[in-house]
Amino acid sequence: MALKVYNTLNRKKELLKPINGKKINMFVCGPTVYDLSHIGHAKTYIQFDVIARYLRYKGFEVNYVQNITDIDDKIIRRGNEQGKDPIKLAHEFEKEYFADMKALGINSVTKYARATEYMNAIINQIKTLIKKDYAYETEDGVYFEIEKFSDYGKLCHQPMDQIKEGARVSINENKKSPSDFSLWKKAKPNEPSWNSPWGKGRPGWHIEDTAITETEFGPQYDLHGGGFDLIFPHHESEIAQMEAASGKKPLVQYWLHTAFLNINKEKMSKSLGNFLTIRDALKLWDEKTYRFYFASTHYRTPLDYSEEAIDQAKQGLGRINEFVRKLKVMNGKDSGAKKLVDSTLKKFEEHMDNDFDMPQAIASVYDLIREINKLDLAKKDAEIVLYFMEKIDSVLGVITFEDLSVPADIQKLANKREVARKEKDWTTADKMRDELKEKGFYIDDTPQGSVVKKL
Ligand code: AMP
Repeated sequence: MALKVYNTLNRKKELLKPINGKKINMFVCGPTVYDLSHIGHAKTYIQFDVIARYLRYKGFEVNYVQNITDIDDKIIRRGNEQGKDPIKLAHEFEKEYFADMKALGINSVTKYARATEYMNAIINQIKTLIKKDYAYETEDGVYFEIEKFSDYGKLCHQPMDQIKEGARVSINENKKSPSDFSLWKKAKPNEPSWNSPWGKGRPGWHIEDTAITETEFGPQYDLHGGGFDLIFPHHESEIAQMEAASGKKPLVQYWLHTAFLNINKEKMSKSLGNFLTIRDALKLWDEKTYRFYFASTHYRTPLDYSEEAIDQAKQGLGRINEFVRKLKVMNGKDSGAKKLVDSTLKKFEEHMDNDFDMPQAIASVYDLIREINKLDLAKKDAEIVLYFMEKIDSVLGVITFEDLSVPADIQKLANKREVARKEKDWTTADKMRDELKEKGFYIDDTPQGSVVKKL
């Protein structure tokens, strides 16, 4: 079945046709690692995780690369504030980012690429741009001259004049035009720096991504993703850099952008301070609930953070898990599951093929649950449905298949142990842990709190 994706470049849904048969090179902008990530980031990365999983489900061979911005102004500032080496600080937060992604069940990324490990490619690209007269050196760095690249504005759909108008005032006297963007920043005292033909310095923000993608994929590739906020100037400038350097168009076939997670109608962001870290969020609800919450809205639809909505997602997911538990023990007489499953699978795929319409795809699963709940299926039929649930969950990653039910008395004992632990009464806490073990349960002390599980 043909898969259509909404392409920001042409503002249309287009048939996904990879450059090279079944192979897809996919790049999504990763984080700037100077702080913990928040659940706005989680929305974008979970939705791209589902997208990458679905592409693999469809039989595509997906090479999914994400960059890690481990050198940048914010990192340097934070390092200086804390009296820490900025690069070391970045790599500490990179570790935290990986821990968060793992906790959210994000497992589709093939390679994480650190900007600082692509310095040669960055320098070579800048050299080419200067040689081709798209870039110029000043006292404080190297800049891309947007005037020279007539396609500048094609992704954000704004004419060059308007873009230039928007950047009329510049604090930088050295630039030919205020909208010219930085490719290389010459080092100020006490800044991390690398040698280059323009003296010691560090790359601008946009060049790291094209250096990484040219190294990993070549000058042209299939799919590039990120949040809406990255369309301009970040992605626009990536296009300018790489298409100018290689002379090949387009840099990317399909540009996909996720809408924001807002909080009180404002984008959740580190700079506004209105964020909930993934770490803290996972103390409130589990990772599958968040995955389900984000998969239940279209990736291009903005979402207003709401505890009620997350709770609703938890309940909705609970109904799916309950259904799976029931399927496992079903041993009735009814048949007919195959037909229902086949038509649901068709609908699920049709919706996902329509620009990854996850909410509609999930709605088709609920329809199936409603129909099956009217029946008392024979074991063989129940297994067909169970297999279907496993198949769709390879994409969504939300269902709990193992039996995690914990009896009320065990949960009570675990809660008491948690109180003892919080009061640092280790003897009582250990005694209760042993008691739980005797009853066939163990305590998993995760960073998100203690969870009691079956042995
Ligand atoms: P940053 O580290 O802030 O550059 O963000 C990394 C990625 O997360 C980018 O693709 C952003 O567009 C995305 N992002 C940041 N904040 C939000 C948000 N509130 N909702 C959805 N995506 C976001």
